[in-house]
Amino acid sequence: MIELEQVSFRYQNEASHVLENINLTIEHGEWVAIVGRNGSGKSTLAKLLNGLCLATSGVVRVNQTVLTDESKHQARHYIGMVFQNPENQFVGTTVADDVAFGLENLAVPRETMIKRIDQSLEQVDMTIYKDHEPSRLSGGQKQRVALASVLAMQPEVIVLDEATSMLDPIGKKQVLSLIQELQEQLGVTVIMVTHDLNEAALADRVITLDEGTVWFDGKPRELLEKGDQLHEVGLEPPFVTKVYQQLTRQSIDITQEPLHYEELV
Ligand code: ADP
Repeated sequence: MIELEQVSFRYQNEASHVLENINLTIEHGEWVAIVGRNGSGKSTLAKLLNGLCLATSGVVRVNQTVLTDESKHQARHYIGMVFQNPENQFVGTTVADDVAFGLENLAVPRETMIKRIDQSLEQVDMTIYKDHEPSRLSGGQKQRVALASVLAMQPEVIVLDEATSMLDPIGKKQVLSLIQELQEQLGVTVIMVTHDLNEAALADRVITLDEGTVWFDGKPRELLEKGDQLHEVGLEPPFVTKVYQQLTRQSIDITQEPLHYEELV
């Protein structure tokens, strides 16, 4: 369980807070999407959850332990984080080395390590790239490897910060269904930063940030029902929602009338 109590955060040497008075509890096994416009504080919030940033005031508790400079390393054993830009995450000379790196830090026995590397590369469909140099992969392939590195560590919580942004639509679908599987079958807690409400709609719960505060916290359906209000916080309703709204607003019979595309985009 992750708890944030009255959390505010300000970057060093900056005058104003990026996050203010955040109160949240994320339960084991929940799939939470964090949405909001650029600069609303999503990445900073994600970093507070695994101790990459420490609260300026208030408390972040992970499994009852308050995150501090001393305790944050412990938290990283069970919270895996995949960033938007996987470049920053590569350390190995081959894809397999890279996935092995986190496991070496956890002192996982060699046999188990080999199994976990193979299994996680298979989960992200990257087995054939095992001996490739990470820097030569495409953006989407790098994101898959970054995800494999985290999966291999078998974390209780996975924090994904725009981690599917470079994947093609099929790749995105594959990764999202893998995440769904991990959550449903293994009870992994998933926290996913995204600007895409199509993705957020898959979560159990959506937290919407606006200028560093929580603007909405609830079910995706309730968020989508806010309709045009979503624009106020820089969000765009999913295409399918707009089609549905247009049909119901005008009682259009889809078999008889063309849709007005310009209202949908
Ligand atoms: P989001 O993920 O929603 O785009 P971020 O959490 O990345 O938002 O950023 C929130 C605010 O914090 C922005 O105004 C951004 O400029 C600022 N910020 C982010 N990282 C740093 C940093 N390392 N130092 C100073 N300011 C930062």
